[in-house]
Amino acid sequence: MITPGVLPVTPTSNIRISSHGVRAKCLQRLVRLGLPVPDTLAIDMHTILGISEGQPIDTDAVIAHFGEDALVSVRPSSGAPEWGGPTSILNIGMTSARHAKLSHELGPKAADALYTRFLQSYAVQVARLDPDLFGPDRTIDEMRAAYDDAMGEPFPEDPAVQLAAVLSSMSLAWNGVTARLLRQARGAPEDAGLALVVQRMVLGVGNPHRGESGSGVIQFVSSETGVPQITGRYMRQSQGREALIPDADALYLISDPRGPSMEEENPDILDQLKHYGQLCRTRLREEMQIEFTVSHGELHTLDALRVVRTSRAALRIAVDLATDGVIPEAEAVLRVPPKALLDVLHRQVDPQARGEVVVTGIPASPGAATGRIVFSARAAQSAKAREESVILIRRETTSGDVLGMHASAAILTERGGVTSHAAVIARGLGLPCVVGAAGVTIDSRARRIRLPDGRELGEGDEITVDGSTGRVFAGAVPLVQPEPDASFRTILAWADERRDIGVRANCDTPAEAAVAAGFEAEGIGLCRTEHMFFDKARLTVMREMIFADDPADRAAALKQLLPVQRSDFLEIFRIMAGKPVTIRLLDPPLHEFLPHDRQGKLDLAASLDLPMARVEARIEALSEVNPMLGLRGVRLGILVPEIYEMQARAIFEAAIGSAPRVTPEVMIPLVSSRREVEIVKARIEAVAAQVRTESGIEFDYRLGVMVETPRAALRADEIAEYASFLSFGTNDLTQMTYGLSRDDAGRFMSAYVAEGVFPEDPFLQLDVDGVGELLTMGANRARAARRDVTLSICGEHGGDPDSIAFCRHAGFDYVSCSPFRVPVARMAAAHLAI
Ligand code: PEP
Ligand code: MG
Repeated sequence: MITPGVLPVTPTSNIRISSHGVRAKCLQRLVRLGLPVPDTLAIDMHTILGISEGQPIDTDAVIAHFGEDALVSVRPSSGAPEWGGPTSILNIGMTSARHAKLSHELGPKAADALYTRFLQSYAVQVARLDPDLFGPDRTIDEMRAAYDDAMGEPFPEDPAVQLAAVLSSMSLAWNGVTARLLRQARGAPEDAGLALVVQRMVLGVGNPHRGESGSGVIQFVSSETGVPQITGRYMRQSQGREALIPDADALYLISDPRGPSMEEENPDILDQLKHYGQLCRTRLREEMQIEFTVSHGELHTLDALRVVRTSRAALRIAVDLATDGVIPEAEAVLRVPPKALLDVLHRQVDPQARGEVVVTGIPASPGAATGRIVFSARAAQSAKAREESVILIRRETTSGDVLGMHASAAILTERGGVTSHAAVIARGLGLPCVVGAAGVTIDSRARRIRLPDGRELGEGDEITVDGSTGRVFAGAVPLVQPEPDASFRTILAWADERRDIGVRANCDTPAEAAVAAGFEAEGIGLCRTEHMFFDKARLTVMREMIFADDPADRAAALKQLLPVQRSDFLEIFRIMAGKPVTIRLLDPPLHEFLPHDRQGKLDLAASLDLPMARVEARIEALSEVNPMLGLRGVRLGILVPEIYEMQARAIFEAAIGSAPRVTPEVMIPLVSSRREVEIVKARIEAVAAQVRTESGIEFDYRLGVMVETPRAALRADEIAEYASFLSFGTNDLTQMTYGLSRDDAGRFMSAYVAEGVFPEDPFLQLDVDGVGELLTMGANRARAARRDVTLSICGEHGGDPDSIAFCRHAGFDYVSCSPFRVPVARMAAAHLAI
């Protein structure tokens, strides 16, 4: 041992990630594999912490280890590469005497280059002096004089003093507030330590007469796609990562029409690098980027880092490693974070793009899109007819906006949270959506939006909405296209083999069912039938039904709705090809189907041939102070039985007409008491009996209940006696458990999370302590009453990995989430089971 806490990185020494960091551990592995790694020492985290607290270490001993004439580098080695660390410093040990000697050995040009680089990085990074005083155009004497001036003392001539200063500055930098916050944001624990590696420099700057010298980096897969391909650069007479500086006079690694390459000029070196790359791949079981130096013709590998990769590349690399037998399939599954699949499915803002962010809101549905602003669903539909890409901006959306949302490329709302109407619909459609855009004011009449900085945008102005991060950019910014490839399917197939909880999708239309089927959902866990009524022709009939004065008129309107509902169900059954489909009977309050603006009311009066006063009176009569807790869901089903009866008939008639035959699942929303289920069940059974008699065809169906009021969870035992399945609607359940409006929470949710009142938005991540307790209680009580009851979740939490973990633990049979979340849920479920 050199000095306490310092360990040589030899094959036999006891380098551990927990004390010496990943870089030191990786270097030791490279040494063990026989790669030509220059002599390296690792200083452990405990010692570095001590240095930051003022305890000295014996740097003389460290320098003595390398020999008086050596130059060394110091690099950070933390617990995980993404936690970052201070910038590496090279050429420590450069003094006037050493410079003179090197001038003699390598020629003045090379020696000057080494010295100026060291002076520069020491002055700027260690002494923290003004970088302008140490620009590359300055001479050695000028830099030394500038250092002397600023510091009041000459540039240190003792390598041990230089090294001590470097170690101290790096240890302090690591413990600074900014660095701490930055790494904690990347998942580092509060007490994450820093180790350092000190390595003998091999000089990529040398005497050209004594052979090839230079440095570079190489990797063997593309960071963007993960496809096998040699990527990197090499630059003669350079050090560190200089070859990667844009416009550097570097060589390509393999033959390239754009310029000279290492493959043509130094094929032996390239062959050695390929060999080392292959060794790393098979023995470190990872795609590594190797940093190398060629010194007078001899190759040295200084470092190797896990190749930086996009989500798409991560997927491809994991699948290739498993296919080649380097890692087991289960490990490949574990190497892909479930949410990374979303990046592969949606267009994303190019990470290199430098757009102007004009507002930030809550990221409610991933993906990015550019379009011109419109302020009404109607304008969005006309724009669609002209094949224009538009972004629909609304204060908040309601059912009347659904067709406009279909016609838009993305949605932005001033209000709302992650389970607001806009968010739920956008996720279903796979449209980018940002809600709760803090600080904007929308004036739909004037068709203008005022931004937090006071500027305004109007209809027709172009913006880009990034629903993955919540950012909204002025104008168009470059986007990258989604490209799920064969590895996407492969990894999900491997995931499916291992998971033990089902994954269904929430789909309201045949189009969404097609997406879900494409993502291999095991069925539909929630089909919100109200979304089938927003087509213009259907909406008119629905409104006729709402305006019907007597049962006969209502029956006439419902008779017109029956065939359209039936054909939607038939189509969904056909797409799902025999997989289970849960259809929820109508849920929203009826006023959601009526217009609320004057023009809409006028149009309605005209289409129903009614006086305006009647239309207004009916709308007034249906309006409620707190509609989400008013006449909706099963309450509507009980008071206006014909609606559910029509829906049940449409479901049954579709089921007997479908091939392969399905066993439809009929679900009653917003239940809070056993008696509600009992009443509706009797009526639905009567409809089933009628359809059986009329058609002469026998069929089965299952009746279930949505548990989305706290009372339904508390009384789940008696409710389960009437229901063969219970699906927890955690959107409403969260809303009602907290007494927190889904549509208004967005206004203050970020502040609440920032203040630590809520650890996370409970509409996004299941509140395990409160709502979760209701879930567990409901599940246990239901099972106690009916052992074979099927349990599931169909709120938006169904696609969240942590919430899935909870459901699996509670013994649920499946989760149901928006179609684009299905791959994430399949992956998350596999991670839990492995
Ligand atoms: C729920 O409340 O969780 C649910 C799935 O229903 P909706 O979002 O349609 O209210
Ligand atoms: Mg609900």
